[in-house]
Amino acid sequence: MSDIRPLSFDEIKERFHAALSGGRIYVCYQAQINHITGRMTGAEALMRWNDPEHGPQQPSDFIPQLEEAGYILEADLFVFREVCSLLSYCRSHELTTVPVSVNMSRYDIYNNNKYVEEIEKIRKEYGVPVDLLRIEITESSAIGGLELITSVLDQLHEIGYMVEMDDFGSGYSSLNILKDLNVDAIKLDMKFLGGEIGGRGGTIISSMVQMTKWLKTPVIAEGVETLEQADYMRSIGCYNIQGYLYAKPVEKDEFLKMAEKYDYEPEYKGAGLLNDIDTGKFWNPESMETLLFNNFVGPAAIFTYKNGSTEMLRVNNKYIRELGMNSDEKTVLEGSLYDGMDEKDSRAFEAAIKRAISTRNEEECESWHEVHSECCGYDRVCIRSSMRLIGESGEQYLFYVTIRNITAEKIRYAALEDNEKKFSMAIEHTNTFAWEYEIATKKMRPCSRCRRELGLPAVIDDYPEPLIENGFFPEDVAEKYREWMIKIDGGEQHIEGIFPLTADRVPFMIRYTAEYDENGRPYKAYGSATEVKGYDMSWYKKKAPAE
Ligand code: C2E
Ligand code: CA
Ligand code: CA
Repeated sequence: MSDIRPLSFDEIKERFHAALSGGRIYVCYQAQINHITGRMTGAEALMRWNDPEHGPQQPSDFIPQLEEAGYILEADLFVFREVCSLLSYCRSHELTTVPVSVNMSRYDIYNNNKYVEEIEKIRKEYGVPVDLLRIEITESSAIGGLELITSVLDQLHEIGYMVEMDDFGSGYSSLNILKDLNVDAIKLDMKFLGGEIGGRGGTIISSMVQMTKWLKTPVIAEGVETLEQADYMRSIGCYNIQGYLYAKPVEKDEFLKMAEKYDYEPEYKGAGLLNDIDTGKFWNPESMETLLFNNFVGPAAIFTYKNGSTEMLRVNNKYIRELGMNSDEKTVLEGSLYDGMDEKDSRAFEAAIKRAISTRNEEECESWHEVHSECCGYDRVCIRSSMRLIGESGEQYLFYVTIRNITAEKIRYAALEDNEKKFSMAIEHTNTFAWEYEIATKKMRPCSRCRRELGLPAVIDDYPEPLIENGFFPEDVAEKYREWMIKIDGGEQHIEGIFPLTADRVPFMIRYTAEYDENGRPYKAYGSATEVKGYDMSWYKKKAPAE
């Protein structure tokens, strides 16, 4: 073979069918290994093309072309058939049989959506149980709408296939996709984590939700080449490793030998807790964990908790900034987690730690922190912390905590509460009664004070008649008051005047202000009555009915 090169698009189209039937297109298998037990948890089937004239072709040089040429479904179904054939061989020869993942192109489901039907035909033909097959989809399968991929996902789940999100973090919409698509596992390619630090990768997986998501959905770490990467993934609860560190993709026969050697780890391990705490790595600024920690998560810290005391192990820059501190990492690490919290908040924080230990879930708490900075002096910030246990070793617990500064929200809320308090105090103080009057329905809604002190119900219909009947408005003032209400119903904006109320004829200043709807029609009026101390009602008394 002299001329080793990628095939052109035309060559790919011309040679595809012959390559498929002539064994030039075939399948390789790459093992997935549990990094703790060293056993195989599964494998991925990868398509290979070895052209007799131009040599091995890279999938990246022919898969997109097959998609464009409309041949990808045929190619993927070929791979699926090969996989079923291998699995059925393993089963009938009582060899170690591991679940195999196959790649589904988004084009597989575009044309009249026969994919699920077709793979089911093949699976049944070979009598392979569905739990030995997994389907890998990519974020790009949601391009052009979620409906199609969601319906395919539902069909696959209905039958019992496990679906994996491949190349998670390679697109811009990772977090949304995870929320929208119900996948059973995530494949996180190390190449999306390394490389462009602080660049594209950093912005994609920047949410603090990220870390907890990883912990909730089983993660397969792909492209793992070093022990350090594998160890890091294990420390965040991800044991499944697919990468050159353990195995390159190999042909069928070699894969069968490998499966016997590694043995099968049936448990589909997902989120879990690590048993030993290796905190040394967190201190090394060059380490993988530092890199991920600073670039791929929001404001976060890692701390240990042992017999009631905490120790900060690591904080990222965003954490320091979110707390509104001007201090450096070293100062924060040397301090205590409770620095600047009062006793009540410290206790609440510790209670959350204890809850997180017993529930193993994410637990939240809010606390006020007094922070000090050299330039700005003291400040108070309110922080909402979400914490999760990520490891334990004897009495020592390792925690991952993400924070959010909610000071602004808190202050707004407090101001609101404060205003309300001031308003009701003012009302009590000035002896004011207030109510709302709905013009169209003639319903009156008294304030709580009216209800308490005057014994009024929550709603009074046909206002003001019931209050005239019960003598609250003495008979001689009733007519004037009725005239007022007619004016308000007719759209008068403001009326005020003094009325002697109740049989005791206590003088009250009554005011009405009307509110209009968008068409300028009056729909509501706010009424208030304030006792006028020392006002001489004798002129009115003259008109009072004889007792
Ligand atoms: P993929 O699905 O993300 O497959 C994983 C790729 O990572 C494979 O590349 C694998 O050989 C490579 N890889 C695994 N471990 C390591 C590692 O430690 N370091 C490095 N640098 N690479 C590693 P491959 O086989 O070249 O496939 C490339 C892509 O082509 C696949 O990416 C997949 O998107 C597509 N592909 C492969 N086979 C099929 C198939 O049967 N159907 C479809 N539709 N697409 C396929
Ligand atoms: Ca894949
Ligand atoms: Ca991948």
